Amino acid sequence: MKKVLVLEDEENIRSFVVINLKRAGYEAVEASTGEEALEKLKQNPDVKVALLDIMLPDIDGFEVCRRIRATDNTIGIIMLTARTQEMDKVTGLMTGADDYMTKPFSTAELTARIDALFRRVGGAEAKDNSEVSQPPFLLNTRNRTLEKNGVRIKLTQVEYSIIKLFMDNPSKALSREEILDAVWGKEYLGELKIVDVNIRRLRIKIEDDAQNPTYITTVWGYGYKWGL
Ligand code: CA
Repeated sequence: MKKVLVLEDEENIRSFVVINLKRAGYEAVEASTGEEALEKLKQNPDVKVALLDIMLPDIDGFEVCRRIRATDNTIGIIMLTARTQEMDKVTGLMTGADDYMTKPFSTAELTARIDALFRRVGGAEAKDNSEVSQPPFLLNTRNRTLEKNGVRIKLTQVEYSIIKLFMDNPSKALSREEILDAVWGKEYLGELKIVDVNIRRLRIKIEDDAQNPTYITTVWGYGYKWGL
């Protein structure tokens, strides 16, 4: 059974989401506070995707996201934001979320996003046990890990997918739309900005100087390129 954690303190919204997830074939683990969500995740290590509301009675959703990411880079995380929290989107993604949805959202869109995230975190792609070496980087496609100068760099699944796309296409300018389609899936309904936010986060992790990137370079008015 594909398990999803639903952290939402408003009971009517939570039940609505849970009912729809069950209809779509998911098993839902419910939590109404941040602490409860962290506890439930410990009890259910097989949860693959977490939906995190931001405004909660105890710790906020960003803090929950940060604490999950401190020990788990593989779980998929979708933040649930209110319409007035525009800035929160960027903050949420910088703390390690993979995606966000603005309330109110349609359940069809929510399950589409969860399905897409499951395909990414579930390792739907063939595990071909190959290593891609592009010094100083070494990408291991079986373990989905990246090393720089022999040191492991912790990546989320989305960040890994972006790096793999770049390393598969060295020196080729990739448009933001291409990156979005390849990493988030063609059925993804979100905004292009999510590409920029993830790239910014990746640069902080892999560049010698994130302000003057030499690995993920910007192709102005178009997208990004792996290399100078
Ligand atoms: Ca709330």
